[in-house]
Amino acid sequence: MQVYHGKSVCGGIAIGKVSVYGRPEGRVEREEKQNQEAEICRYREAAGIALEQLDGLHEKALRQVGEAEASIFEIHRMMLKDSEFQGSIEDIIHTLSVNAEYAVARTAEDLEQKFQACEDAYMRGRAADIEDISRRLLAILQGREEERIQEKEPVILLADDLAPSQTVQLDKSQVLAFVTARGSLNSHTAILARTMGIPALVGTDIPLDESLDGRPGIVDGAAGMLYIDPDRETCARMRKALEEEKEKKELFRTLIGKENLTLDGQSIQLHANIGSIKDLDMVLQNDADGIGLFRSEFIYLERTGFPTEEEQFRIYRTVAEAMGKKRAIIRTLDIGADKQCAYFGMEKEENPALGCRAIRLCLTRTEIFKTQLRALLRASAYGRLAIMYPMITSVKEVRRIREIVEEAKAELEARGLPHGHPEQGIMIETPAAAVISDLLAREVDFFSIGTNDLTQYMLALDRQNQSLDEFRDAHHPALLRMIELTVENAHRAGIRAGICGELAADPELTGEFLAMGVDELSVAPERILPLRKAIRETDVSEYLRTR
Ligand code: PEP
Ligand code: MG
Repeated sequence: MQVYHGKSVCGGIAIGKVSVYGRPEGRVEREEKQNQEAEICRYREAAGIALEQLDGLHEKALRQVGEAEASIFEIHRMMLKDSEFQGSIEDIIHTLSVNAEYAVARTAEDLEQKFQACEDAYMRGRAADIEDISRRLLAILQGREEERIQEKEPVILLADDLAPSQTVQLDKSQVLAFVTARGSLNSHTAILARTMGIPALVGTDIPLDESLDGRPGIVDGAAGMLYIDPDRETCARMRKALEEEKEKKELFRTLIGKENLTLDGQSIQLHANIGSIKDLDMVLQNDADGIGLFRSEFIYLERTGFPTEEEQFRIYRTVAEAMGKKRAIIRTLDIGADKQCAYFGMEKEENPALGCRAIRLCLTRTEIFKTQLRALLRASAYGRLAIMYPMITSVKEVRRIREIVEEAKAELEARGLPHGHPEQGIMIETPAAAVISDLLAREVDFFSIGTNDLTQYMLALDRQNQSLDEFRDAHHPALLRMIELTVENAHRAGIRAGICGELAADPELTGEFLAMGVDELSVAPERILPLRKAIRETDVSEYLRTR
């Protein structure tokens, strides 16, 4: 039995086979090749296989997701057949007498640079396609299999790290647990695992080679352990723990339909955080009072081109209708920083977390923003949708957003389309917003405190950097004071203040948040019932006396 240790992101036990995702790519070495014709043949054969693969992917995507998403594979086919691309590879093989792999890598590098230097955002976005094509060609030339998981049975997924754009492409019904070598506790992979309610570890000392592929494994999420080829004693212990976990879950289910009321009569709302309409079932099953955060950027991340107004309208309408009288807060797209989306064609930034992300992107590229707003405004006629804006730092931004919303409404009216008048709130996730929350509260309908980013920006501590974990203090007094100040300022202005960052689910802070008068906590669906239990066992006045 081999035992590996990681940091616990999400508790729970998973038993199943291990699958290594995204094996480290083979390095491309420059090799001298005298038989250039043979190298050109190798390249042409690989290109033929790549074209066949792309054909297959195109057909599959057409069946499963539709023409718009499938078109990317057609674009890749065209690029692969492009005479400039092919000519450059064969020319490099000829003139430098090198191996096909080197010629592919060198051509891709040159073309990527060329695309990246383009003024036009669409053309800049093509650099990612070149990277994709060359990766495919290199995998074929180096005899590596395709990198997507295509497991027939659910697996424990092992990866170096998973970018949000990769996680959205996974067939999540086939994932029993995530275990990554890198990644921090607040990364979006971690958040995704919590939303899905499956065990997950990050910062695990796993070797990412084929030796682990297909081997039996067990993840003990709470203890931060991964066992490969578990021995009999460990299997028995883990199976017993799994049974106990199931029983505990059953007990939580007895809280369905009960109020979130403390022993001394204070109530608080418990909402759910989601990233897709596929999560709606979990929201309803766990008896959430509403949706406190729908991370709409995942709609963009799981596509290969911009989602249309119609597509988005259908998604938001589904949310509004599923939630009925309950409120659902949709956050406008928070692309940027770690959530990179190639087709946005964004310029490379030195500090993306401090760069053109979220509302800054929307206020710079208003057409993208307006398409989303029109879809949201239309869908809000079908239920209690609310719109929330991320990464706000100033009153000026809020006022500009309000103007754009009015323009979007006018455009819908000109097209004769009905729309609602949803509440509009903002995320308090920058120190600037928290400090001026008294001014911002006069401009909006509600606040939701994003503790993930607020922690990162308050403590000047990259949320993606796992090596800084020893400096991370989730309960830092500066952060707690900012939350308290924000809630006070919201209440003074007569608006609600909730928390939707990961800290909302921290049971050690439930008493503190209740004492501050936080109106709602928005957490991963699976955390709702355990939190309800904790709230029902809290006496706020007693807590205040003893803290
Ligand atoms: C946050 O920053 O706390 C938040 C909820 O948003 P995200 O994690 O998506 O940045
Ligand atoms: Mg955030």
